[in-house]
Amino acid sequence: MRITRLVCGHCGSVLSGLGQDKLFFCSNCGDGWSLGKKGLEAVNVECRASADSQLPLPFWMVRATVHVLKRTVRNEFTSTMLRFGSRYEEDVLSAKKAETGGQSDRRTLLFPAFPVDGLPGIGVSLSQHVNDLPQAIGPEESLPDMCGGSISPVDAEVLAKCVAVGQETEKADWLAEIEIVLSSVESSLIILPCNLEVEKVVIAETGVAFFRRSTPGWTEIVDYHSGRA
Ligand SMILES: [Zn+2]
Repeated sequence: MRITRLVCGHCGSVLSGLGQDKLFFCSNCGDGWSLGKKGLEAVNVECRASADSQLPLPFWMVRATVHVLKRTVRNEFTSTMLRFGSRYEEDVLSAKKAETGGQSDRRTLLFPAFPVDGLPGIGVSLSQHVNDLPQAIGPEESLPDMCGGSISPVDAEVLAKCVAVGQETEKADWLAEIEIVLSSVESSLIILPCNLEVEKVVIAETGVAFFRRSTPGWTEIVDYHSGRA
């Protein structure tokens, strides 16, 4: 068993978090850390929640070039047939497909750094609001405590791809098959101020919300912050 002392590699402050956490934010100097096999490794971090924010939660912001290698859509006729219970026969219906792939574009994908049901869908909605986020907190201001970041940088890259696929399925056509590759990936941990409502949690100024009951470990996150209030 490997024991890692959870102290900030920059300023030496003790890092706190929950048992499952893999991401840590130093509320003294503002550095971010990820707990990997070799101990703590530095991660880029942008803090956009002030020290007095009710619920500062961790998110991943992944900038990547998304290459859509192959994108096959079926025309509506095919789906109408499916709706009437016909079996899909590849050779009969192959003429009813169109290839729309072959493009690349730079995207900014934003999604929770903690497990929540329907995470890719929340990521698709959040990524539409990357320009509506609150300003980053300056180095002279006091910083919040963060907990709950349990999605590692490696897993974040896989999830970024799921969000990019989700963006493709949201388009108004009948997506049948897709092949996507991400390159030039730059990941940052981003801390956003969230607001607790009766059943939901609203993420910063985005208007995007998720149900607290769909987040495993939600009680621990809330207890952590209420214990410090
Ligand atoms: Zn520090």
